Amino acid sequence: MNPPLDAVAPTEVLTGWGCTSPSPATVLRPQGLDDLAGCLTDSRVTPERGIIARGLGRSYGDPAQNSGGVVIDTTAVSGIHHLDLEHGSVTVDAGTSLQDLMRWLVPLGWFVPVTPGTRQVTVGGAIASDIHGKNHHRVGSWCDAVTAMTMVTPARGLITVTPQDEPELFWATAGGMGLTGIVLDATIGLHRIETSYLSVDTDRTPDLDTTLDLMESGDHEYDYSVAWIDIMTRGRSMGRSILTRGGFAPRAQLDRRRGADPLHFKSGTLATWPGRPSIRLVNPVTIRSFNEAWYRKAPVRQRDHLQSISQFFHPLDMVHNWNRVYGRSGFLQWQCAVPLDRTDDLRWIVGRLSDSGCSSFLNVLKRFGPGNQGPLSFPMEGWTLAIDVPTVGLPGLADLLDELDRRVVEVGGRLYLAKDSRMAPELLASMYPRLDEWRKVRDTADPDRVLNSDLARRLHLV
Ligand SMILES: Cc1cc2nc3c(=O)[nH]c(=O)nc-3n(C[C@H](O)[C@H](O)[C@H](O)COP(=O)(O)OP(=O)(O)OC[C@H]3O[C@@H](n4cnc5c(N)ncnc54)[C@H](O)[C@@H]3O)c2cc1C
Repeated sequence: MNPPLDAVAPTEVLTGWGCTSPSPATVLRPQGLDDLAGCLTDSRVTPERGIIARGLGRSYGDPAQNSGGVVIDTTAVSGIHHLDLEHGSVTVDAGTSLQDLMRWLVPLGWFVPVTPGTRQVTVGGAIASDIHGKNHHRVGSWCDAVTAMTMVTPARGLITVTPQDEPELFWATAGGMGLTGIVLDATIGLHRIETSYLSVDTDRTPDLDTTLDLMESGDHEYDYSVAWIDIMTRGRSMGRSILTRGGFAPRAQLDRRRGADPLHFKSGTLATWPGRPSIRLVNPVTIRSFNEAWYRKAPVRQRDHLQSISQFFHPLDMVHNWNRVYGRSGFLQWQCAVPLDRTDDLRWIVGRLSDSGCSSFLNVLKRFGPGNQGPLSFPMEGWTLAIDVPTVGLPGLADLLDELDRRVVEVGGRLYLAKDSRMAPELLASMYPRLDEWRKVRDTADPDRVLNSDLARRLHLV
């Protein structure tokens, strides 16, 4: 019997955050856990196209799309089941956003273990991408803080999965892009905070080498660390950066005004991007000017500066639908990780990007700590660089990115599947050498490949 979903499940055209490769799917909107669990057996799921879960659609490419098949919008399945304030853990529905978690938990003195550059992601999406934040070098990625999850798989039905009792399925689901089962809820360890303010140190560096040196020598002193890098400057100032590092401030560091409400959390937006511009607003001239202004605006050296959670972690969330700035053709994100001892190759990648005239203002460099057991989990000990690039305007962009992909593979690195929209499928096994191990676990959970997505077909994962 079909679960009592919307009477009519409409076909909708979906994209990822980059707005490339739209595809139509029948969208189910379960309103509760039982509905969500029942989706796998919905009569609209066909063996040919299958079904995939979708959170808030913040993956850049196509993992939450399923052309001609069924997509489950999980966002209405949201809420807290159990909150243990003594030990700092929470059990929440998979469609709960990190923004809602923060709205509920920050005033109580708790923070999520890991946050990406947007809080508009769901718990299910965080597990399926095994997301990382600026504190990876300290705490690892999202699934390192997950102690249990309830999921439903085509072959095994409803099942509780913990790293101790079901390690294979647990770790195959961490970063498994929704292809091992539908996560219904998860129990997550939290981080205690005294205030909702970050004490931030900023260093503006003249070049990439200075940035790398500072991160190598000092990241271990900070809970959070990230560098914005200018990939449009060449020569001696190639890779000049703004490095910001910090941690949650103790109460004693707050002034009277902030001290009156030390756990204040504001989640609103300041503006909404109006629509897709008909002219190409993001072009080499505007980006070069933006980068120059952004770099000059940053202090050369600043210590113990207080910032809110939004300012430090999620500045982009202040503008709703900011991805529309790229217009109808959209944009892509390229994010790689390379081993720590491959700094020469990282330098080569940044140099290649700046020499090619690639225009990007969202360029982020982080230093990962060791990865976890997830065969498809992205973080590995090393450097990770992410750049947002418009899909039009740079002749030869596809060839350039292919060349970078090959270099990443040669040095034992990988691309992040949550960001990818274009890599060649034959590179996947080299990037993720435990891919076959993952396939075996997936086959026990879903032997008939009911779980399917545009990404899965594109990368030959099904
Ligand atoms: C501005 C911005 C900044 C970002 N910064 C970072 C960052 O710093 N670090 C980082 O790691 N990522 C980052 N991301 C990427 C983002 O964190 C991931 O793509 C995340 O998975 C998105 O979650 P979502 O809820 O939107 O999931 P979607 O994008 O909708 O789906 C992602 C995957 O999760 C699966 N999924 C969703 N719900 C479930 C479920 N209930 N059960 C099983 N599978 C499910 C989907 O099938 C899909 O494979 C960023 C994205 C944006 C737009």
